[in-house]
Amino acid sequence: MISPVHTWIAEKTGIGNDLNDLTLREWQMARLKDLIEYAKTKTKFYKDLPVLFHDISELPFTTPEDVAADPFAFLAIPQNEIARITTISTSGTTGIKKRIFFSEADIERIKEYFAVGMRSLTKPGWHTEILISDETVNSLGYLLKSALESIGVTSGIQSHIPDVLTAINAARGADCLVGMPAEILCMCRVEPELRPKTILLTADYVPESIITAIGEAWHCDVFTHYGMTENGFGYAVDCEYHSGYHTRDAGLIVEIIDPETDNPCENGQLGEIVLTMLCNEAMPLIRYRTGDFSRFINSPCSCNSNLKRLDRIISRYETDQQIHLLDEILFSYPEVKGFNASLIKEENGERLHLIIDSSEEIDEGTLAKFFPGKKIRIKYDVNDPFTHRGKRKLNIIERGHISALILSSGLSERMGNPKALLMWDENKTFLEKIISEYVESGCTTIICTVNPLIIEECQSLISDTRIKFVLNEHPDLGRLHSVKLGLNELPENSACLIQNIDNPYIGSEAIKKILNSFDPDAWCSPEYHGRGGHPVLLPKKIIREFLKEAPSDSTLQDFLKRFPKKTVQMDDDSILKNVNTPEDYQILISRQLGCS
Ligand SMILES: [Zn+2]
Repeated sequence: MISPVHTWIAEKTGIGNDLNDLTLREWQMARLKDLIEYAKTKTKFYKDLPVLFHDISELPFTTPEDVAADPFAFLAIPQNEIARITTISTSGTTGIKKRIFFSEADIERIKEYFAVGMRSLTKPGWHTEILISDETVNSLGYLLKSALESIGVTSGIQSHIPDVLTAINAARGADCLVGMPAEILCMCRVEPELRPKTILLTADYVPESIITAIGEAWHCDVFTHYGMTENGFGYAVDCEYHSGYHTRDAGLIVEIIDPETDNPCENGQLGEIVLTMLCNEAMPLIRYRTGDFSRFINSPCSCNSNLKRLDRIISRYETDQQIHLLDEILFSYPEVKGFNASLIKEENGERLHLIIDSSEEIDEGTLAKFFPGKKIRIKYDVNDPFTHRGKRKLNIIERGHISALILSSGLSERMGNPKALLMWDENKTFLEKIISEYVESGCTTIICTVNPLIIEECQSLISDTRIKFVLNEHPDLGRLHSVKLGLNELPENSACLIQNIDNPYIGSEAIKKILNSFDPDAWCSPEYHGRGGHPVLLPKKIIREFLKEAPSDSTLQDFLKRFPKKTVQMDDDSILKNVNTPEDYQILISRQLGCS
């Protein structure tokens, strides 16, 4: 069967049997002129577009940043006619948000295209289970459901899927499943006996390894499509021959440009996909840079469509490419149900930290070949993708971003004198000695909680931009209060070592050893001969939980009990020693004298 997308374009454009790349281009250029006219008169952003041009390549680009900066500059209809607003993060690391508007007519067009796309993989009378989105009016799931209804296909939407077993139960008996690639893969590895006839993988990059694995396990036909919110969620879908994406050419113009020169690519050359939405009513977008890469396939498809198609889509961002590569490698292992990947950037290089749900061991050598120069660490553990739903991504952890929190606001009642200001040796107080060890260990921010009695003296003693004093006016509220005050002052995304002022013995070598055991998911505790000591190292994830929850536990240790703990075996007892009483201090002094 020829791709339903091709048939739809032939009808929609009125070109019929004469449809080819040239006749289509002619039709699109006429629509483009109407679009320019519309965008110029209706929107602030496009008001200065030229009226006269020979080719689309003469028009300026629109970037995701433009949309994020002022979405209303693109709005072409009165605000009260907006039927749906979607807020999304832009790709890459910037994390800026952009708002996309849709009118009723836009939503009808989305449904129409969904119906066309779903014709490739469903038949009237079938049942489809939608494992993404929810039933909110005009949500993705809702639009897909009504599109399916229009072609005689019933569907269910699973609004809340807490785990893979819930997803599997929902999928039983369905002819077609719509879901995210890694989630569907996990389903087929947990329950290989399901027999859906077709699958649409959506809402994330689709690795070849997943397509193959699902097809083989469930003996079904796996389809992929491509879309983004800006273009109405879907603009390209493959046909039953799976050799490239048929694009929605009666609704948009697809260009591939060389990102270096901004010129159109030669046919077949890899470049950035640029889209012009010909029919968007609420929010026209002209020459929108998607940030995704692909190439045109010019040879006719086996389905007999003679229109050019898009090849596989590649992200421009290196971290996306890395997670996609990991997906390809790891999901090709038949026992892998899921995994989580972090790239930890350290002073002496990068470490790839993988938590893999698999009963089969992964060959580290193979991974190392694909990730040269990176240290690889693998842990095996349960990883159900439904418990942390969303696009797959590589977590980037800047290990360089390590702070230290020195708790020195206690009243030192047993000692009689403020411990922070006790002399460690002839030149340094406890506080100065401890700070110097953390600076030596590479900490970029050092936060010291201090009480009102010593803050001025501490500040006059130590002036370094890396050191920040935080006043604790209520040392009587205990250590956890002090921890809260200190962690609140951390730079964003920082991990943190927590140290008490009463342990000046700890040295930079011991601190570095703890840092080398950094784990993004667990807190690290140093241990000597079975006894735990200080400092503890908390990753960003646990700090975030702590600040969100403002725990009322009696101690930090109580709070930490609910998180995974990693023990670091130390070579000496410096992590255990405290100086709490005048006797302890006397021991320290005599030891220092003994040394000198
Ligand atoms: Zn085809």
